[in-house]
Amino acid sequence: MNNQSWMQRDLNVLWHPCSQMKDYAADGLPLIPIKSGQGVWLEDFDGNRYLDAISSWWVNLFGHANPAINQAIKAQLDTLEHVILGGFSHQAAIELAEKLVEITPPNLDKCFYADNGSSAIEIALKMSFHYWRNLGKGQKTQFITLENSYHGETLGALAVGNVALYKETYAPLLMDVISVASPDCFYREAEESWEAYSIRRFAEMERTLAEHADSVCAVIVEPLVQCAGNMRMYHPSYLRLLRQACDKYQVHLIADEIAVGFGRTGTLFACEQAAISPDFICLSKGLTGGYLPLSAVLTSNQVYQAFYDDYQKLTAFLHSHSYTGNALGCRAALATIDLFQSSDVLAHNRQLAALLAKYTAQFHDHPNVAEVRQTGMILAIELVKNKQTREAYPWQQRRGLKVYQYALSQGVLLRPLGNVIYFMPPYIITEAEIKRMTEVAWQGIQYAEQD
Ligand SMILES: *Cc1c(COP(=O)(O)O)cnc(C)c1O
Repeated sequence: MNNQSWMQRDLNVLWHPCSQMKDYAADGLPLIPIKSGQGVWLEDFDGNRYLDAISSWWVNLFGHANPAINQAIKAQLDTLEHVILGGFSHQAAIELAEKLVEITPPNLDKCFYADNGSSAIEIALKMSFHYWRNLGKGQKTQFITLENSYHGETLGALAVGNVALYKETYAPLLMDVISVASPDCFYREAEESWEAYSIRRFAEMERTLAEHADSVCAVIVEPLVQCAGNMRMYHPSYLRLLRQACDKYQVHLIADEIAVGFGRTGTLFACEQAAISPDFICLSKGLTGGYLPLSAVLTSNQVYQAFYDDYQKLTAFLHSHSYTGNALGCRAALATIDLFQSSDVLAHNRQLAALLAKYTAQFHDHPNVAEVRQTGMILAIELVKNKQTREAYPWQQRRGLKVYQYALSQGVLLRPLGNVIYFMPPYIITEAEIKRMTEVAWQGIQYAEQD
């Protein structure tokens, strides 16, 4: 069986995520069946290899088929694959909750599991609302969100997100939210620092909180990087101000670290760079090293206590998912966290981040690059039609897609977001591999220019 025959069988029965299926079925976009993965490399059924420069949608941290994680899952598999978490518990769920309480910022004392990122967002939203309700503040029903944010695809998560491409179609189904301008530093003035701009942008958040605090449960943000929103970035000072304002106005702060957690931004959690603790932190993606679907919401004892009462008071949080706290997922997560603790991954990532900067230095002067921006292990290149005016390429041209196709032909998996090419590689990538993937991206931009 080669690529072509797998692709045929696939197209007969499979409907792929985030895809116009006609691209594959009729318009020549290859659908690539992967046979195996090893480290940063994926191999298809024709024997082609692809450097996974985007960590398979931002989930992989320590490479495909990582021996330590493989071993941990195999041992767990022979002991217990899964058990109901209502009324029952198990060793891996307990150990992981202990670990997460230990390594996340202070005052996150209790861990609630789910099985994907969007569900973690739904849980944080419901818990925040329900907390205020249990305190007799049932009039708090709204959420404040940042423009250009992304929090997942289920209806609640989609409602608090802000990327039009994913949201607009479903607008009639979604709860109303209060949107505030993003601190996204792409729009700062030429001489303005990231910090000055992000602080300036906070004024609107402060005004909105002052006006709506009585009806607002929580503010939800992606700390430091709005990943699905074209890898737009902002300064930690915004989070520091936001924490102060949330305290002042008695509103929760929900940190969606689903994409930025576990070392992506340079610290283990992005909130650390602002020295803040959110009231809720949502974790998934890198949580299991990219192995298994699992998510967790951590919150404070104070929130936990507002639900804790006699059953008859009906204050309990009655939310559940069938695979909540799956044992294999928890074991993969424990093995992943062990890898962070058995060597100085964050120091190593600082070296890798410097190499990412070094090998993309030439992009700054490219006539169609408006900005090269970086936060830790995320580096993004914003392509524009006009460098001076920053006029964007018409989206219909699908320039990013051309870069994607070119890169695939050269053995690199890039997956541009619109006209933004980015690198978010596993933490085991080598200098030679960084050099290769950035060269291919450079050539891909030239290739996309040609037609
Ligand atoms: C991916 C993502 C989600 C949604 O997680 P899923 O597991 O895909 O449902 C939520 N928030 C952020 C910031 C994400 O990047």
